[in-house]
Formats: sequence, structure tokens, C-alpha cells
Amino acid sequence: MIGLVLKVHCQALCNRWVAPSKILNLGPHVGVCEDCWQRHLEAQALLTDGVIPKGCQNCNTPHETLKERAGAGELSYVLHHLDGVYVAICPSCNEQIVRLQRHQTRDTPFGAQLNL
Ligand SMILES: [Zn+2]
Ligand SMILES: [Zn+2]
Repeated sequence: MIGLVLKVHCQALCNRWVAPSKILNLGPHVGVCEDCWQRHLEAQALLTDGVIPKGCQNCNTPHETLKERAGAGELSYVLHHLDGVYVAICPSCNEQIVRLQRHQTRDTPFGAQLNL
């Protein structure tokens, strides 16, 4: 007998194939996996209550490392709404994402400022 392995593609950021039990089935976030949902909740906690995330939710660099990198300057997180979930990301990931999405911002003052 052939074993059947069913995997569902996460519709949010991670782009992984995961077991159906790991996928949300209710509400507006159907098709999002548990990990992406957790990131979404952490990003929301940052947005609403100022709770610092464990680190960048895109590259997973820990908060302490990001703080060291920022040095005397202030560490900032940037919130993006990507593929249906919120994510709080570090400045270098933000730059990469803004460049990938430059078709959206190229003709705006923000795009001109970044020289897109
Ligand atoms: Zn996911
Ligand atoms: Zn990052």
C-alpha cells in the first residue's frame, strides 16, 4: 500500500509545504501556517503594545545582534504587510524588500529619496 503524505502550501511569507495540521483553517488567514501566524501576532504586539520581537522576522537575526549592529544609532524595526500577514523586519531586510518592490514606490517622493 502506498502511504499518502498530504502537504499544504503556506500562502504567507515562508513559502513552505507543511502538514495540514499546521495550517490555519478559519478566518481571514486561511492557508497561513502556524509559524507565519506566530510572526504576525508578534508583529502586531510590537505595533499595538510596543513589545520587542525576538529579532528580525525575515532573516531571524536576534534582537541583541541587531542592537549591536545599530551601535550608537537607534535600532528600528519596520512593519510590512506581506502575503497577508504582518512582519517586523530589520533595516537591511527592509532595504532588500523595498528594492524588490520598487515598482510600487519608484515614482513617489519616498522612492526618489532612496534613489530607486
Ligand atoms: Zn508560513
Ligand atoms: Zn532581517
